[in-house]
Amino acid sequence: MSVMTDEMTQMKNMIKQFVEKEIEPFAQQIEEDDCIPPHLINKAKKLGLFGMSIPEKYGGIGLNTLSKTVVLEQLGHTHNGYVSLISAHTGIGSTGLVKLASESLKQKYLPEMAAGEKIACFALSEPGAGSDATNLATTAVKKGDKWIINGSKHFITNAPIADLFTVFAVTDKEKGAKGGITAFLIEKNYPGLFIGAKDKKMGLRGSYTSQVIFEDCEVPEENVIGEVGMGYISALTILGEGRVGLAARSVGSANKLIEMSAKYAKDRIQFGKPIANNQAIQWMLANMATETEAARQLTFLAAQLIDSGKKAIKEASMAKMNATEVFNKVADHAVQIHGGMGYVADYPIERFYRDARITKIYEGTNEIQRMIVARHVLDEV
Ligand SMILES: Cc1cc2nc3c(=O)[nH]c(=O)nc-3n(C[C@H](O)[C@H](O)[C@H](O)COP(=O)(O)OP(=O)(O)OC[C@H]3O[C@@H](n4cnc5c(N)ncnc54)[C@H](O)[C@@H]3O)c2cc1C
Repeated sequence: MSVMTDEMTQMKNMIKQFVEKEIEPFAQQIEEDDCIPPHLINKAKKLGLFGMSIPEKYGGIGLNTLSKTVVLEQLGHTHNGYVSLISAHTGIGSTGLVKLASESLKQKYLPEMAAGEKIACFALSEPGAGSDATNLATTAVKKGDKWIINGSKHFITNAPIADLFTVFAVTDKEKGAKGGITAFLIEKNYPGLFIGAKDKKMGLRGSYTSQVIFEDCEVPEENVIGEVGMGYISALTILGEGRVGLAARSVGSANKLIEMSAKYAKDRIQFGKPIANNQAIQWMLANMATETEAARQLTFLAAQLIDSGKKAIKEASMAKMNATEVFNKVADHAVQIHGGMGYVADYPIERFYRDARITKIYEGTNEIQRMIVARHVLDEV
């Protein structure tokens, strides 16, 4: 039985059409130029995609988690760099302000974020603080009515194009993660904020990451997101929300790969018949379809639990871990089914294969997701 309302089905069809007609024709260009043409970003803005997580009150479309899952699943069918730019903004870039910030910060920043006029990013990771995000070296010291930030972040998605940064810094070293980390909203033009060179990556072309450096960066005290000292909990909340979105995008990409692989298998003739006639190919397709559908159901379950008011931390981690691993497996089978064509850049398969790899690493590695799931399993008995 479908959990989707008529409204969600309409939205799904609209995004599907948008992806096929407006974005897919430019996917190869994004890959070759390592750049997303501004008109494609403007189209997403027009559709309201930059405001999908932001309540209507602040100019967004305020989708619940299940509806966002439906949208992100469809977006997963196209270029992952394009989707990464949008989802870093609407996910980890926006959630802190939407869920945790004061009313005045929301009123000040959310309307421009919803319109896509200001691009957001989330800056937690540091050279010494990856999986162990409690080990931050960036500090914030109160001086009058300002906080002075020093330190650096790395691998920050959207940093080279961002206007607004959700940044985590140590405000009390003694307390550490238990009351000593604070989240701040920092504008690009605050004195003392510098952006490093773009990272050269394996994939996700068109989606830029870089270092962000703070040298006596002055931040007004009202730009604290949530409570002083509660930043680590805020970071976990924001990342937890994002996991279902990443799972949904991965399911969408896996489905796109299955579709391309099935078509190719029917068209490609070897030994006088389509390769789809071989059981070896059919079994790969069967496994790809079965595992993707299972990943989809788990992702939808996690989204529904969140919408029903449950934290669903275990289910969100399961969904992220499972869907990203299925995406990687499906991408591997897709290369195999396409043979040499799966390995050359004329075809999108090798792009998906490279883009799949990061999904097991960012927004919490899959080892970290397993630690979270295991903790729940052990606590439940
Ligand atoms: C393209 C890209 C975009 C990114 N975007 C952002 C962003 O927008 N914002 C942001 O803040 N960060 C971002 N990151 C950073 C990303 O979240 C981190 O890379 C990730 O959390 C892993 O941290 P690390 O790279 O330091 O790896 P490490 O933490 O050093 O881990 C290395 C390996 O050890 C494993 N490991 C670590 N601890 C344990 C343990 N206790 N048990 C078992 N295994 C363990 C890990 O799972 C991993 O396999 C991005 C990274 C990339 C590459």
